[in-house]
Amino acid sequence: MKTSLRILTVFEIPIELDISFLLLILFIYLMAILNIIQLELAVLITLVFVTVVIHELSHSYIAQRYGVDIERIVLLPIGGVAQMGEIPKEPRQELYIAAVGPMANVIIAGLSYILFLVTESVTPLFVSAFILQFALVNLVLAVFNLLPAFPMDGGRVLRAILAERMKYVRATELSVSIGKIFAILMAGAGIFLPNFFLILIALFIYIGADQEYKATIISSLLGDLKVENIMTSEVMTLSPQISIEEALEKMFQYKHMGYPVMSEEKLEGIVTFHDLSNAKKENENLLVSDVMSKDLITTNPNEEVIIALEKLTKHNLGRLPVVKDDKLVGIISKTDIIKILNLMKNKAK
Ligand SMILES: [Zn+2]
Repeated sequence: MKTSLRILTVFEIPIELDISFLLLILFIYLMAILNIIQLELAVLITLVFVTVVIHELSHSYIAQRYGVDIERIVLLPIGGVAQMGEIPKEPRQELYIAAVGPMANVIIAGLSYILFLVTESVTPLFVSAFILQFALVNLVLAVFNLLPAFPMDGGRVLRAILAERMKYVRATELSVSIGKIFAILMAGAGIFLPNFFLILIALFIYIGADQEYKATIISSLLGDLKVENIMTSEVMTLSPQISIEEALEKMFQYKHMGYPVMSEEKLEGIVTFHDLSNAKKENENLLVSDVMSKDLITTNPNEEVIIALEKLTKHNLGRLPVVKDDKLVGIISKTDIIKILNLMKNKAK
């Protein structure tokens, strides 16, 4: 289901508003109409979201120049997310991509402050106060994003600086540790003050640090490993015309949890134990072709394992058929990849 609305495209990057974001904006203006909050505040919040888009666009623009694919920018109530391909592991490039976002906020803050100074004497007090607040919010955004911890831009800046002096994985480990220490100090301050918001941000940073660590370790362990290096070439397949009962029997016999469905030489779909046993409860007389999933997500022998893993995770799948020149040449499962990861991790120790 599509849950976001495309509003415009800049540098060939689509900018979309998530439904939850639209509801939030609607809610804020409703509050303003009902005089629960000032209209100025509603407008200020709207403008801040515009600067969030500019922030994400500046990351995306530089990333694009280094050849990173930018899928889209989505605005959510918590801020903006630029969905992009893998960021280069070239420290200098990562540094520029990460630093340009907060820099955009600094520039907006500076320009707004200049506007404030120039117009202060000729505009009504509430207008100049508004401009000043806008400048201040941007300054706060810049500082917040530069906190030296993942998932903030500052965490990336820190890693990039460290990675110029040491290995990428080591730089990640070190910056993740610094981020975690930072989060713990922040949570401590939050409890001491007490400030619930600080505790929440600390938690967010701690979790973000952990995720970044795992993602980096996985991608560095898998390296340039290709699907063909670890796929299973002898693939058990099922015919779409057999009954689910028959298919289940085969599954028990061969002990795999998912099978490509082939008629003649053509890959028609993929079916899992889960699909079959669920369908059996409903109607025993169904055929494999009735319950298999037809929108196939596939990989190819030359694809990097890390990309295949991303596909598996993104679509919440257990296995991908490996297809070359329209022919099924193998299958790769999440379990296979995890096994390889564990082997590599033990080897790296
Ligand atoms: Zn950013």
